[in-house]
Amino acid sequence: MTPMEKIRLLTETRGFRFTKSLGQNFLTDENILRKMAQAADINKEDAVIEIGPGAGIVTEMLLQEAGRVLAVEIDKALIPFLEETLSIYPNFTLWHQDVLQADLAGWIKAQQEAGYKRIKVVGNLPYYVTTPIIMKLLEDQLPIDLMLFMIQKEVAQRLAAKPATKDYGALTVGAQFYCKAEKVFDVSPQVFIPKPNVASAVVRLTRHEVPPADIPDPALFFALVKAAFGQRRKTLHNALSVMPDVEDKAEVARRLGDAGIDPMRRGETL
Ligand code: SAM
Repeated sequence: MTPMEKIRLLTETRGFRFTKSLGQNFLTDENILRKMAQAADINKEDAVIEIGPGAGIVTEMLLQEAGRVLAVEIDKALIPFLEETLSIYPNFTLWHQDVLQADLAGWIKAQQEAGYKRIKVVGNLPYYVTTPIIMKLLEDQLPIDLMLFMIQKEVAQRLAAKPATKDYGALTVGAQFYCKAEKVFDVSPQVFIPKPNVASAVVRLTRHEVPPADIPDPALFFALVKAAFGQRRKTLHNALSVMPDVEDKAEVARRLGDAGIDPMRRGETL
């Protein structure tokens, strides 16, 4: 079935209605599917988690290319359709769950024990919850080799930004601490039903084999990053002085000086 045939079957025959609040914009373009498979280099040695299968358009491509696929979908109305249309694939598992609550660690461990070489996560992500999903996957430090996401273009640019640019911020540092982040290609709103209000892009996050820096206290590091970018127009001296636990502003200037950092710099230039 083509993507359009799937969407028609779901909406016209099964009476499915899109739920805007769940970020439901379904992909209709097979070229984009091929480009996604290529960008994620999906093959039979991979166990892949798909976030938000929707009508199963990306899912079917994954089932054909990957060793195993787990699809996690929050919308109950989609579950019977996904089961009926995709259960012919023996490598398919479907969970009706919020991905933020799902035990992905347990599933990943089972796939590694079954001999799958790489763990990948793919998704045309629901836009309302893009950043929480990506940050949770990164911060949980799951052994995921690669993630390929279709997301708002603006967020893709922030994830892949270079230092000292306007897109570089706390999200960039958070993602690039764990992964190499690349914007792979742009996607027009025309290839979705219904059309989203924003442009999209596909971003690839490849986990660093060795972390780019040895950080003994990650919680403190990320609190510092958040404070440094929190008020972008402030100097580092002022931005860091409002962190909890800071009693003496002069001490902040002194510590920045000790680290060879000009306290008058702004966070995004560091
Ligand atoms: N993959 C399909 C496609 O490309 O056509 C659908 C993509 S649509 C942008 C996002 C999907 O994620 C929807 O099916 C939506 O119901 C589902 N979704 C939304 N929030 C979710 C969550 N917290 N956990 C799992 N799935 C979610």
